[in-house]
Amino acid sequence: MSRKNLAGLSAVLLLVAASAAEAKQWKYAGLHPRTGQPGDGLCHLETTHVHSVAPQHADTLYRTRDNVYVFIGDPTPFGYEGPRHSYYGHHPVVLNVIINIDVDVDDVEYCYHDGPHYHAYEPPPRQEFVDKEDVHYYAGEYPEDYRRENPKLVRVNTVYRNWNAPRPEVTFAPPPQYRGPIINVGVNVGVNVNVGRPAPPPPPGRDVIIIRDDNDHDHDHCNHHNHGKHKKHKNKKFKGRN
Ligand SMILES: [Zn+2]
Ligand SMILES: [Zn+2]
Ligand SMILES: [Zn+2]
Repeated sequence: MSRKNLAGLSAVLLLVAASAAEAKQWKYAGLHPRTGQPGDGLCHLETTHVHSVAPQHADTLYRTRDNVYVFIGDPTPFGYEGPRHSYYGHHPVVLNVIINIDVDVDDVEYCYHDGPHYHAYEPPPRQEFVDKEDVHYYAGEYPEDYRRENPKLVRVNTVYRNWNAPRPEVTFAPPPQYRGPIINVGVNVGVNVNVGRPAPPPPPGRDVIIIRDDNDHDHDHCNHHNHGKHKKHKNKKFKGRN
């Protein structure tokens, strides 16, 4: 090989090395925001896959398992329209259940969303929850891990505040079994950007419970993976509102 060719070859090799370094990829599993901008929507691939886009707000909206990013937040700001579950306050999230893999020991993380919020996933098995009016409350103890991470992970609320997405409307007090923070999240209050929303924002400090038709409600529904029912309570939500 001539000197000139050698020089050319090493230039090519350098280029390859450079682009390999640039083309960094991030592994994801399960539903996640495409870019982190609400308007860019969600990626619905369930199995582990890669993107060349880094997860936004990775430190609060995601947890990792073997370098795979798992989105555990409320998907509502990103235009999520699938079955959803209403939660109140902080609760455990089991990563292996969300991404549907079998493991010997549950990979338990905590959700630090204050007040009422939605998830695409139902309350995880092997964790204690109580339901009140179709809202899920964690009823177990919060471990030391939860408390240690709280100052960092509770910032998820600052991230979501800007997105101003609808939340479950809860007026009643949490059941006594719930020992997490009770924080009235004044969602949408004073922000007038909700054109086309079905409901006016609740006044500060007072919400209206609008899930009224409770007749066919099965309090065990989540243990039976009955997603159809949850779709229903999403629709119900808008019934008593006319
Ligand atoms: Zn994806
Ligand atoms: Zn549910
Ligand atoms: Zn949550």
